[in-house]
Amino acid sequence: MKQTSTYLVVILLTILGITSCQSNQQEKYQAELPSDTTGGICSMTIGHWELIALQDAHFTMKASLFPDADSIMLQKMEPAKEADASCNMFLLKKEGKNILFDAGCGYSLADKMEKLNISPEAIDYVMITHLHGDHIGGLLQGDSAYFPRAEIWVSEAEWRAWTTDSLLQQNNPLVAKIQTAYQNRIQNFEFGKPVVAGITALNASGHTPGHTVFEVGNLLVFGDILHAADLQLENPFLCATYDMDKVKAINARVMFYNYASQNSKIVLGMHLPFPGIISDFSQYWE
Ligand SMILES: [Zn+2]
Repeated sequence: MKQTSTYLVVILLTILGITSCQSNQQEKYQAELPSDTTGGICSMTIGHWELIALQDAHFTMKASLFPDADSIMLQKMEPAKEADASCNMFLLKKEGKNILFDAGCGYSLADKMEKLNISPEAIDYVMITHLHGDHIGGLLQGDSAYFPRAEIWVSEAEWRAWTTDSLLQQNNPLVAKIQTAYQNRIQNFEFGKPVVAGITALNASGHTPGHTVFEVGNLLVFGDILHAADLQLENPFLCATYDMDKVKAINARVMFYNYASQNSKIVLGMHLPFPGIISDFSQYWE
């Protein structure tokens, strides 16, 4: 494991033609990215694909979310006792398909889509890493489906958990609303098998019962493998209180840190500081 004092988003040379990026933390995370006035939108070309990082909202993760962190770990969060974070979504334009990875809380997805001049009808697939509200809120406008045509893909294990366990159902009424709004456009997949558009779904359960990491080409969509980069990139054994099964969450975190590092994957994280991309994970973990 490499010790790094500062967390930096570095875009690999293999990512070509960055066209527009802006971060709320420009000085700290933005050094290599050209800024513009678009705000919360970062587009880049990866081979023949276009990848657009979208920021639903900027936020921080407080120290209290990490009750097992010791004082040395918490020094990383000084002076404010909080880590910089974000709520990110990723739109991949690949072989004529528009694929959205997670839908955020619903704060600004529609606004970002409008700025990009992409209508909700244009989205073919929404790949859901898990069913927490900050990843599915943007699927709805009011109680209606925001995406009139898209298939919504979520793991079988995740869907089953949140639609059959009465306590989970009670705690997360959004799932029932999404079920009503999208009905038979909700599709389930099994781990380890191709899903659609060359995307494979990998078992990352622990954070939630069916939490998923998506792999497509060299991209690894991390979902909520980690919440506070400042703390957890160096300490994968540390859980946020959001992790529902801590032991499994730690196992998944270590496994995917190894996988990303050893296979030179470009990591897309839903709560990494915007734009949420780590192109060389071996900087942090090897
Ligand atoms: Zn989340």
